[in-house]
Amino acid sequence: MEDLSRVLDEDLLRELECPVCMEYMVPPIKFCMHGHNICSKCRERVHYCPTCRAEFSEIRNVALENIARSRKYPCANRQSGCLEFFSIEHIAEHHAGCVYGNIKCPFHVLKTCFWNGLKNDLKEHAKAAHPTNFFEDSFFRISTLEDYLVFTFCFDQLFTFYKHIKDGRLYGAVQLIDTSSEASKYKCEFTLRAENGIEQISNIFLVPGYSEDWETIFNSGKCLSLEEVRARNFFVQNKLNLTMKLSRV
Ligand SMILES: [Zn+2]
Ligand SMILES: [Zn+2]
Ligand SMILES: [Zn+2]
Ligand SMILES: [Zn+2]
Repeated sequence: MEDLSRVLDEDLLRELECPVCMEYMVPPIKFCMHGHNICSKCRERVHYCPTCRAEFSEIRNVALENIARSRKYPCANRQSGCLEFFSIEHIAEHHAGCVYGNIKCPFHVLKTCFWNGLKNDLKEHAKAAHPTNFFEDSFFRISTLEDYLVFTFCFDQLFTFYKHIKDGRLYGAVQLIDTSSEASKYKCEFTLRAENGIEQISNIFLVPGYSEDWETIFNSGKCLSLEEVRARNFFVQNKLNLTMKLSRV
């Protein structure tokens, strides 16, 4: 029974594929005079049905639209390894942040690198283009108050750490270059220690995934966040005394 429903599901998915772009159709789905369907994006560009060359009508395939709305779609980056499924309302949002699509080098936030490519190629890029900001360690010390971004490769995963000063506050967070569910397997601990050895701040956070941008992470409060003037209490020999430790949950 399970096998039969899976076959039916695959047949239905094929029915929902646009014959032009091969992506799954989202409403409005229109059809040609002979009943062949086309997705709304391709409908704007194509004047004749690619299957039979007939003209398109303005009539919507409501039955297929209802089916489209009721089911979950695999991510368009499934060939590169994304195994997630989403409803029609959420798939565009996922595609925008899907780590298996083309992703930007994290240094784009500093406007110093404009590389974009596949997740699996990012590590090589990071090593080659940002060698002084590439570590292979789950623990490191950050001694500058300036904006600072580094890669670290540990637990067979690529993470980025970003420290940023905005509106008089210091923010620090780690992001995993992978899905949020993969990221939730890791935590990071930030520790600030003063020269007197007594005053200390220590915070532990779950690591967010690639789909969460820094702005969202910094606003969520799930990151190191303190007033810049306060951070100055944690200077040892004129250097910030901040450490970051990554571990599995
Ligand atoms: Zn299409
Ligand atoms: Zn047709
Ligand atoms: Zn995806
Ligand atoms: Zn780069």
